[in-house]
Amino acid sequence: MIPKILSKSEADEISNCIDETEHVVIVCHVAPDGDAIGSSLALWHTLTDLGKDAYVIVPDQYPASLRFLKGCKDILVYTRYTDFAQKLIERADLIFCLDFNEPKRVDSMEPVLMASKAKKILIDHHLYPSSFCDITISHPEISSSCEVLFRVICSLGLFEQMSVDAANAIYTGMMTDTGNFTYNSNYPEIYITIAELIKKGINKDMIYARIHNTNSEEKLRLNGFAISQKMEVFPEYDAAIISLSQKELNHYHYQKGDTEGLVNVPLSMENILFSAFLREESNLIKISLRSKGTFPANKIASEYFNGGGHLNAAGGEFYGTLQEAEDLMHKILPVIGELAIQSKNEQ
Ligand code: 5GP
Ligand code: MN
Repeated sequence: MIPKILSKSEADEISNCIDETEHVVIVCHVAPDGDAIGSSLALWHTLTDLGKDAYVIVPDQYPASLRFLKGCKDILVYTRYTDFAQKLIERADLIFCLDFNEPKRVDSMEPVLMASKAKKILIDHHLYPSSFCDITISHPEISSSCEVLFRVICSLGLFEQMSVDAANAIYTGMMTDTGNFTYNSNYPEIYITIAELIKKGINKDMIYARIHNTNSEEKLRLNGFAISQKMEVFPEYDAAIISLSQKELNHYHYQKGDTEGLVNVPLSMENILFSAFLREESNLIKISLRSKGTFPANKIASEYFNGGGHLNAAGGEFYGTLQEAEDLMHKILPVIGELAIQSKNEQ
């Protein structure tokens, strides 16, 4: 089987926390994705199956494509049920923090989360976790928090009783955080884990279809427009940039999640190593960055866009107009070109 991820003392400590807790809350990062929701729900199933009083609270709305996951209906969205969620967080004696590495990633929930006296356990895979939890289980070498959680569950001796609903949620996060196992997925344990999830009864092909075959016509047309009309390609810097204004998004009746994955598309060109997507929001410009090989997209995110993330998938925010964000991106193209050369030399 897969090597244990927790030491005996860590496993005992977490088991004791779970044994002793009366009220558990599970939180994940803002703009929750498949890994955030998948890990939160998988842990929620695990804890409720043990008879625990557990709630998943997310900072804001999650994508509709995840609604097929069992338990989604019970997720509390903080921006909609703020008072109730605050009461639950204040009452909790144990809080699991899933798929984020610093308190500001829970957005407006941060003050209540940090004020809570509950014991906090982090289960995550982002680089450089800050020390805001009592127990930190952080594995940046593992491609999803769902996979980290799977291994935590195994280490706690809870694998046998894992339900198919929990297994489905775990597979969802593993699949979405690896681009359907096309990156960060070249190690054997990930496939051993998938084999175990299939033995639990998951239907991986159904999960793929539920996540990906959900496009609206307008979403497809928006993405087509973005690629055809708004993509700038800079072969001399191995880079591509796409930007969309609010006006353009409104024209295609943009719904949250409609541009998910768009930033990856330029990387399908052989010589493009870096891709940036700039999306205008009401008060800021959301920046998504992707790269190939050893090109550090997170370096660009942290140095220029108040953000961070992983080597190949990072993001941030720009405070100014879309034009100013585009100007900055153009200005740093030589830096991007240098990083591309370095990453090619490292191949
Ligand atoms: P996405 O492009 O899918 O929004 O984000 C990709 C990754 O970049 C996320 O998983 C997260 O690690 C990181 N990221 C995105 N936006 C931000 C941000 O505003 N701040 C930080 N620190 N990381 C971000
Ligand atoms: Mn993740």
